[in-house]
Amino acid sequence: MKPDSSDNLSLFSTPSWAEVILPLALPKVYTYSIPDELKDRVKIGCRAEVVFGRNKRYAGIIRNILTTDPGFPTKPLTGILDEHPILHKRQLELWKWISEYYACSEGEVMAAALPANFKLNSETNLLYNEDFDGDFSSFNDDEYLIAEALQLRKQLQLSEVQQILGTRSVYAVIRRLSECSLCFVWERMQDKIKPKTETVVTFHPSFDPESQLEPLLNAWKGAPKQLEVLLAFLHFQQSNPFVSQSQLLNKANAASAAITSLCEKNVLQVQKQVKDRITLMPKKCFIDFEFSDVQKIAYDQILDSFQQHQVTLLHGVTGSGKTLLYIKLIEKYLKEGKQILYLLPEIALTAQIIRRLQQHFGGHVSIYHSRFNDQERVELWNKIRNREVSILLGARSALFLPFDDLGLVIVDEEHDSSYKQQDPSPRYHAKDAAIFYASMFGAKTLLGSGTPSLESYWNASSGKFGLVQLNSRFGGLLLPEIKMVHALDGKTKGRVIITDDLKAAIDEALLNDKQVILFQNRRGYHPYMICGACGDIPKCNHCDVSLTLHKYSNKLHCHYCGSTYPKLIQCKACGSVKWNEKNFGTERIEEELELLFPNARIARMDVDSVRGKTAHETLITQFERKEIDILVGTQMVVKGLDFDDVSLVGILDADGLTSFADFRANERAFQLMEQVSGRAGRKGKQGNVIIQALNLNHPILSLVSAHDFKGMYDREIAERKQFHYPPFSRLIQLTIRHKDELKLRVASEKLAASLRIDFKDKIIGPAAPIISRIRDQYLMEIMIKLPKDNLLAKYKQAIKNHIDLLIQEQQYRSIFIAIDIDPF
Ligand code: ADP
Ligand code: ZN
Ligand code: ZN
Repeated sequence: MKPDSSDNLSLFSTPSWAEVILPLALPKVYTYSIPDELKDRVKIGCRAEVVFGRNKRYAGIIRNILTTDPGFPTKPLTGILDEHPILHKRQLELWKWISEYYACSEGEVMAAALPANFKLNSETNLLYNEDFDGDFSSFNDDEYLIAEALQLRKQLQLSEVQQILGTRSVYAVIRRLSECSLCFVWERMQDKIKPKTETVVTFHPSFDPESQLEPLLNAWKGAPKQLEVLLAFLHFQQSNPFVSQSQLLNKANAASAAITSLCEKNVLQVQKQVKDRITLMPKKCFIDFEFSDVQKIAYDQILDSFQQHQVTLLHGVTGSGKTLLYIKLIEKYLKEGKQILYLLPEIALTAQIIRRLQQHFGGHVSIYHSRFNDQERVELWNKIRNREVSILLGARSALFLPFDDLGLVIVDEEHDSSYKQQDPSPRYHAKDAAIFYASMFGAKTLLGSGTPSLESYWNASSGKFGLVQLNSRFGGLLLPEIKMVHALDGKTKGRVIITDDLKAAIDEALLNDKQVILFQNRRGYHPYMICGACGDIPKCNHCDVSLTLHKYSNKLHCHYCGSTYPKLIQCKACGSVKWNEKNFGTERIEEELELLFPNARIARMDVDSVRGKTAHETLITQFERKEIDILVGTQMVVKGLDFDDVSLVGILDADGLTSFADFRANERAFQLMEQVSGRAGRKGKQGNVIIQALNLNHPILSLVSAHDFKGMYDREIAERKQFHYPPFSRLIQLTIRHKDELKLRVASEKLAASLRIDFKDKIIGPAAPIISRIRDQYLMEIMIKLPKDNLLAKYKQAIKNHIDLLIQEQQYRSIFIAIDIDPF
């Protein structure tokens, strides 16, 4: 292969300087000189070790090589960490685009993009792997020193490694040690959980169950115990290709010798696996379903649309078979030898979809998300880079993996607001970034949703995107019937948790052996308490937030900073002991259900109940297996999950969904209710939805009960146009933060006044947000409503200049200002 001349300039001239991206917030180019001994190894996309400031060390990414003197003094690179680039130039281009569009530094994008193992810095922790079974004999002197120290102390900070090794390069040593699993690299303290390993059994890679299984079973020659083990394996393997060895032996009541024999016959294979780790299974590509007529038409329309548009929107009602369309498209691109990126808004959704994808594509597909540990992430990173994996399913951050021949990007549930990263920087929208990323490859982007975002539907209606619609559920199934119920308690004038209508409907569902999903957007027991005498509401000491009572802890919790407080007996303001408890969260509902349906199996799904890596998946699996009758939960229960036997969905407090203030409130409320409703009646019979509310006249409710997306769209888009909101304008939000309230207010006013010089009436605010203090920091917001023209770069530069002007004043140095482009 001919070397790419720009990658390795040493072939024809002497490169002397390297531009390095460092994981820092300053939007600056860091230039280092290249010492002679590193000249041959410097390549764009490789990591370099550098000293920054007096003695901070970082691993940065080389993004450019210069042959002309930058004209200022430079420090030398300390080392090159990679023999081959860890990413391709397109990733660097994506970083650049994100940093420019979302007004942040490339270093911040890098910090979000790279697995922690790749981005060591002085505060990084190394953790000894207690399962390390290798010996030290292959280590060189430096490696030995550190290995020994780690074995003794179990944990070292990178700065300590630096002390031990003196001026020598530390990263090469760490990389070696982590590669041979002597230690783990942990970025944050809270991650210091030792990864658990388990022994799992899979098919042997050379065994093809498609063709070999039947003959093997039909003419069984082995011991009966082995057959029992094999049958048990086949049973478990349907739900998870990695069957735990202990579970298997238990079920078959066998000793491990039986498995060993099956391994010797090359039928099964045993491996140690970090729990939940995705290891590859045999690759395959097979489609075992037939499209219905409407699905076939939609599929052809998508292909047609791909000829004309880079982006196509698939608007298909819940249960119409969008996932099957994706699968068929994936097959097409896989056969063309392309890579496919399938984005989902939340990790919570990946568990079900990955199983469906694996059924069709086996080891071609893998999954990537933020709950992976660092080893796993690096492993997968490399598998994408060297194309061992062709199909990747992941949440937002999967976008950053080093693809080099992407053919198709699917953005599922494209309307979902989780695609936008709020904090920290980079505050990017993964959907928009994905569209840009795909376009770099000439790849197609398919946005899919049952309830598209207004922007996407607008883009599709105006011809910028292609549009394909699927208006009916598969199998002629009707969309669920929606009933509105008034939730006022005649006696207390409060809100009924479970109305009589809902209770009767649940009874009926249970009687028919069906399952029920209940949705409430608040967790905890009582979202807030009010003093019965003076009306005082207990608030967090650090945030401007009312406290939620949690029964399991019997404490008051702040959902913003996590602080907890003992349950109050007496009102702090007036001393009264009489409390009114307002509203109800998932915990309270669970309790009510246990009273009303003593024989039902009830479970709760919210962030309190699914702590830990696998709790969520376990709950979903239990619900799928019908070990749970009623599932009550927050957002988590609604998104995109596909359960066959749910006949009833209840939305317990619709008022809580329609009472938000921002311009997207109605759109979001509609999307959420329509999505929740979509969980009902997906197989067999039409499902039912009961929506409880006090204000039954809210216009969104009647649109939801008619499943009238277009009606909602027409209504909302007219308002957006009238009041000049996106997609008819572009918003930039500045959030200003400081612990001194007065200083913050003065600074915010000053910044707004300064911005008004350039932007006049396009500046809205400053104003305090609804929650005006979080973690002892006061907040103010300024909104900038810009026309949709091609001057965005100029606007951003002007905004930055005004911010710099303010920050330059001594007294405002410590003020934090976040810029958020397209904030909602
Ligand atoms: P969506 O993603 O639009 O909500 P899914 O792709 O999950 O819809 O399809 C809903 C259900 O209908 C799934 O259980 C799916 O297996 C089934 N289904 C849809 N189309 C077909 C088909 N052509 N053949 C068999 N089953 C189908
Ligand atoms: Zn009081
Ligand atoms: Zn708090």
